[in-house]
Amino acid sequence: DDLVLDIRELSVQYGYGDNAVQALKGVSLQLGRGEILGLAGESGCGKSTLAYAATRLLPPPGVITGGEVHFRAVDGQEHELLSLSDNELRAVRWSDLAIVFQGAMNSLNPVYRISRQILDAIQVHRPTWSSKQRQDRAKELMQLVGIPAERLRAFPHQLSGGMRQRVMIAMALALEPQILIMDEPTTALDVVMQRQIVEQIVQLRDRMGFSVIFITHDVSLLIEIADRIAIMYAGEIIEQGPAEELYRRPRHPYTRGLLKSFPPLKGPKTELTGIPGSPPDLANLPTGCKFHPRCPFAMEKCVTAEPVLQISPAKPEPGRTVACWLHEAESLLPAELAR
Ligand code: SF4
Ligand code: MG
Repeated sequence: DDLVLDIRELSVQYGYGDNAVQALKGVSLQLGRGEILGLAGESGCGKSTLAYAATRLLPPPGVITGGEVHFRAVDGQEHELLSLSDNELRAVRWSDLAIVFQGAMNSLNPVYRISRQILDAIQVHRPTWSSKQRQDRAKELMQLVGIPAERLRAFPHQLSGGMRQRVMIAMALALEPQILIMDEPTTALDVVMQRQIVEQIVQLRDRMGFSVIFITHDVSLLIEIADRIAIMYAGEIIEQGPAEELYRRPRHPYTRGLLKSFPPLKGPKTELTGIPGSPPDLANLPTGCKFHPRCPFAMEKCVTAEPVLQISPAKPEPGRTVACWLHEAESLLPAELAR
């Protein structure tokens, strides 16, 4: 397997001592080269925490309390990111990792033209390039994200939100990253624009071969873009598998509820049943399965024992794992999770 990122048992807490709250509990996840991995779940489930901790970009008061993250560079060299010094990390991070976050488009400097901001990004990455080389690259990047090169002359306020977000993607691509982290990159945009950007990311991946961690609370968007999806709940991954299969046959009651909350962008809209209740407070987690207070299928055992993420004993499928006691035996699985 050609892995670019191998996250092993990663744990994160927010704060110290009595006030510490565990935000990520021994999460393991792999990202293949050229793969688009979707991370989904309601807000506060740990999606961003996982992505930022795995790349050591976690802001305080977040603290990594355990685990390893193995990163394999294009040259085949492997680095364990959590044990690198800040200097070593900087060398790795700036050349191999880029991030586009939700509010990114608002971080463009309003007083400078787009050209200047993109040229600066290119210069940081390619300090030895001539001005001509940088300008050619800037035009190329604009075209890559579907904006006419003339728009380089514009000021940020002269571009729509969708275009500004594409400029941010162009600036991320200026780094020629191996891993692109997109944290709710389209959440502030309308559905049509979301769709266009998502399609563009797939095309760019096909052309440039980078890997993507795409974070969103909207699973329907992931079905359009992701090769593989991991669903998070209360700081853990509760189901993971190929996007198409996870979408057609969710194995975890929470995944099923999420899918019902976000009907796909294309195809008939189904009734929005959603999931009753709200995600648990990380400072006061339920016992056993963290989802049990909201789960329509909860059993006695779910209240006391926490299920582990594993290949379903009842429905073993390659590349899929699920954390739910219903999967202990085929006879326990309700029809809607056993298809
Ligand atoms: Fe529901 Fe129990 Fe499965 Fe948790 S382990 S999702 S409570 S059935
Ligand atoms: Mg987030």
